[in-house]
Amino acid sequence: MPTNAPTQNGPRTYRVTTYGCQMNVHDSERITGLLEDAGYVSAPESDEPDVMVFNTCAVRENADNRLYGNLGHLRPVKDAHPGMQIAVGGCLAQKDRGDIVAKAPWVDVVFGTHNIGSLPTLLERARHNATAEVEILESLEVFPSTLPTKRESTYAGWVSISVGCNNTCTFCIVPSLRGKEKDRRPGEVLAEVQALVDQGVSEVTLLGQNVNSYGVEFGDRLAFGKLLRACGEIDGLERVRFTSPHPKDFTDDVIAAMAETPNVCHQLHMPLQSGSDQVLKAMRRSYRSERFLGIIDKVRAAMPDAAITTDIIVGFPGETEEDFQATLDVVRKARFAGAFTFQYSIRPGTPAATMADQVPKDVVSDRYRRLIALQEEISWELNREQVGREVEVLVSVGEGRKDAATGRMSGRARDGRLVHFDASGWEVRPGDVVTTVITQAAPHHLIADDMLTDHRLTAAGDAWEQGNAPKLPGVSLGMPAIGLPVVASAETGGDGCCGGSC
Ligand code: SF4
Repeated sequence: MPTNAPTQNGPRTYRVTTYGCQMNVHDSERITGLLEDAGYVSAPESDEPDVMVFNTCAVRENADNRLYGNLGHLRPVKDAHPGMQIAVGGCLAQKDRGDIVAKAPWVDVVFGTHNIGSLPTLLERARHNATAEVEILESLEVFPSTLPTKRESTYAGWVSISVGCNNTCTFCIVPSLRGKEKDRRPGEVLAEVQALVDQGVSEVTLLGQNVNSYGVEFGDRLAFGKLLRACGEIDGLERVRFTSPHPKDFTDDVIAAMAETPNVCHQLHMPLQSGSDQVLKAMRRSYRSERFLGIIDKVRAAMPDAAITTDIIVGFPGETEEDFQATLDVVRKARFAGAFTFQYSIRPGTPAATMADQVPKDVVSDRYRRLIALQEEISWELNREQVGREVEVLVSVGEGRKDAATGRMSGRARDGRLVHFDASGWEVRPGDVVTTVITQAAPHHLIADDMLTDHRLTAAGDAWEQGNAPKLPGVSLGMPAIGLPVVASAETGGDGCCGGSC
């Protein structure tokens, strides 16, 4: 590991700016861990950093413009700040490679999605040689989880079980930029979960582009269900979630494992993408709406309290009004607790980008509005059914934007629903667990304004109080990016990242 020569004013400072999906947020935690291991320290908000890292996303239509705009703004800053370095990584770097330094020659380092671990070396080499370093690898050399990671949360963590994807959804950039699926061995995954629990983490989200194909690489099609059951054996692990499943590979043994393993949350984020079989075919998603609804029925039969959420893309090339009606139809039947809805936009480098029959923007927007209206109605109806129920809430940080004004605190129920609760008279800390009764419902959240019925102090709450977000070293075990998992909620709106399961 290279060392970072301190400046006259102390250690060199860094800042990481992240665009895009969970996977990128996850990678940024690794970047942060790597830089801190190499002696860099986080730059105070008020100062320009010595090293500015952009972890980019390639899938938004204007991703390039945004990056080059930001790089343009940084140029005079860099000129005024001798020794400052700029590094660009992530999917756009993997795609554009040397073009980045051709367009912005003041960039010092370009690194890809497969060689995050080289960043400190590349920064040092660029500084030493006074030239830009561009290093992009075509495949993973080190499973990213073996890199040091700085965790953001004391109570919840992500654990990667696989990276990459063997599917070829035509709207998705993952296969071309993140490569084929690589699975971690169950023993390694479980050792890491145990290590997190030992540090006070009570909720773990298992992360992969397609968790249901986990195990194909080492020849065990039932590996994911077994992994869930094995998580159930870990003392102190209170909540297990996972993202994302794939309807094509979803099997009954996973439903049974979810239903029969007490610490696995009854929450399922199952990407639908479209309810039209024609569009699913064009998306190269090999399940059909009937299979999708069949899975939902089985999940509800095994876990009547399951909160099921989804991703839907509106306006995929060739989507007709009839296709869109088919999506609305599935949404009505599936009764999702929430949906992440995306307006299709061209994602350069994906097969769909060059398909004929791109749907006009105003048509896409109109369908999007109609879909959101329907989904909100359903989400609200389902949330109203929660009123009067007692829920267990894991208290979180930063999920209640109005908490300061309302005097409430916020957290997630076991099924992933966001709950804002009144904690008056109790010393509740993020990471603690409270029990309360739902008094009001909105489409995207629940409110609990009665007195708490219980408050449990936790090790994660202690760690939060002491300001200790654990940092896990990238040694033999391999620690993946850890952070506050994004829990699928009843939120809608926004522009998709990969628009898919990732
Ligand atoms: S959308 Fe999901 S399943 Fe499809 S290729 Fe992308 S990562 Fe794989």
